[in-house]
This record gives sequence, structure tokens and C-alpha cells, in this order.
Amino acid sequence: MTAALVRAARDLAEAMAGQDLRGRIRLVEDRIPGRLVFTTSLGIEDQALTHALALNKGRTEIVTLDTGRLFPETYDVWTETEAAYGIRIRVYAPERVAEEDFVAREGINGFRHSVAARQACCGFRKVEPLGRALDGAAAWFTGLRAGQSANRADTPLAEADEGRGLIKVNPLADWSRADIDRFVHDNFIPYNALHDRGFPSIGCAPCTRAVKIGEDERAGRWWWEQESKRECGLHLHAPEGEETLKDVAPGQEAAAFEEPASAATSREQRRELV
Ligand code: SF4
Repeated sequence: MTAALVRAARDLAEAMAGQDLRGRIRLVEDRIPGRLVFTTSLGIEDQALTHALALNKGRTEIVTLDTGRLFPETYDVWTETEAAYGIRIRVYAPERVAEEDFVAREGINGFRHSVAARQACCGFRKVEPLGRALDGAAAWFTGLRAGQSANRADTPLAEADEGRGLIKVNPLADWSRADIDRFVHDNFIPYNALHDRGFPSIGCAPCTRAVKIGEDERAGRWWWEQESKRECGLHLHAPEGEETLKDVAPGQEAAAFEEPASAATSREQRRELV
């Protein structure tokens, strides 16, 4: 099963390489029987994918994980996208009891206490709902790109997700940020207003800041942690290790969460640096 999955993913990646975005999606829908799921974060890469999926009118389900802590701008672009394409994005929300227990134990922003607490929060707000979203899926579409961070540098067009027993499809893996911006602009695709305010990567509001000029695209996500730990658990290949709160001494956590002065970094400035 595992060897067959690895082989199928490799063959799929090779075939996808010669196709444009809509062709890549069609290829996956033609080759992989069963349930196909795209989990959108409503970020700019995922908006490009939603556009292509909506135009193809294929059989891939478009779903999102509403953590309950998203930016207002994310809900705005969600609404705008459904109206623009005449679609409904299926929502998966955190389990009520898990959320209530976490907040009772750690506090409403308790994810700032430690890496373990942060991972616990991402666990019930993102990872567990993702599991339900992907239940029974044969393939999982993502908007991952190799250029987003060092952690994602080896992202292939398709890979075997042996833990979940499915093929993970990353049709934008070889696109640059400039490619994404051009595609979104040329096709009048709705996108999150925060992207124009220095946020190349957008997650939950309390865990995302604008990036400084020259910083990695995901530097604004959980910026107080070491870079190797800056994933929420949705796209990890191996279990997380020990706690690694970076440069934050006990009692000084608040300072580590201050917004940088560069929040107004312009999109044009960032483009020049990509
Ligand atoms: S990104 Fe922050 S608020 Fe969102 S689930 Fe993870 S720890 Fe919780």
C-alpha cells in the first residue's frame, strides 16, 4: 500500500510538471478515484487554486478550517469568494468541548505560554478538524509552495502522505510569489486585503504579524518560535520535538509579541526581494 502510494504520487508529480494549473487539477481528478479535498486558508495561493477549481467545475470539494481566531479580513474574502464563484466553502470548526477546556486551562491566549500550549491550540483548532475534513479522502489539494520557507523548500507537486493514507497534491509547488501575484492580478481573483499590508502568509490573528523587508514569507507566523518549529501541524512530516520558545525569557513573553514597526511593508517592496 505504502509503496504503491509513493509510486502513484511520483508518477502523478511527473505528469503534472508539464501542465498549467487547471491541467494539473484535471489530471488529478482524472487519475485518482474517490474523494478529493482542497483545504483553503483563504490566503493568496489558495485563492489561485480556488479560482482554478471553480472554473474547472470538477469534483474536488473546497473546505476551510475556521479556527475561530481568524482576521476579519479573512471572513471578508471568504464571503467575497463564495459570491464571486457561486460556491459554498464547507467549514470545519473546532470541537466545542476541546476549545472550552483549553481556554479554561490556559486562558483565551494561552497558546503564548509555551510551544506545547501553542501546539495544543493548533491541535484542536486546526489538526483535529483537518482530520475530519480529510476523512476518507484519496487526495488532498494544498496551496503549498517550495519558496514559502526553508521548511517547505522540497515541496513536490505530489507526494505520498503515508500517515493519512492519501496523496497530497501541491499544484503550486513550483510557483514563485511573483507568479501567484501575477495570476491573481490577471484573473481578477479576490484576495485578502492583509496581503497589501505586509502579510504574505495569513493565519490566526493573534499568531500572525507583518514581515520585515527581506524576511522569509512565513516569518510572521509564530515569530517568537524557532523557524524549524513554525508549522501548525497540518503539514508536518514528523512529530514535533522539545519546546523551543525563542529569545523569550520567563516573564518577558509580552515583549516578544509586539508588532514590528514594518507592518506597512509594501507589496511592491516585497516583490523586489523575492
Ligand atoms: S495559530 Fe495561534 S490561535 Fe490559531 S490555532 Fe494555532 S496557536 Fe491557536
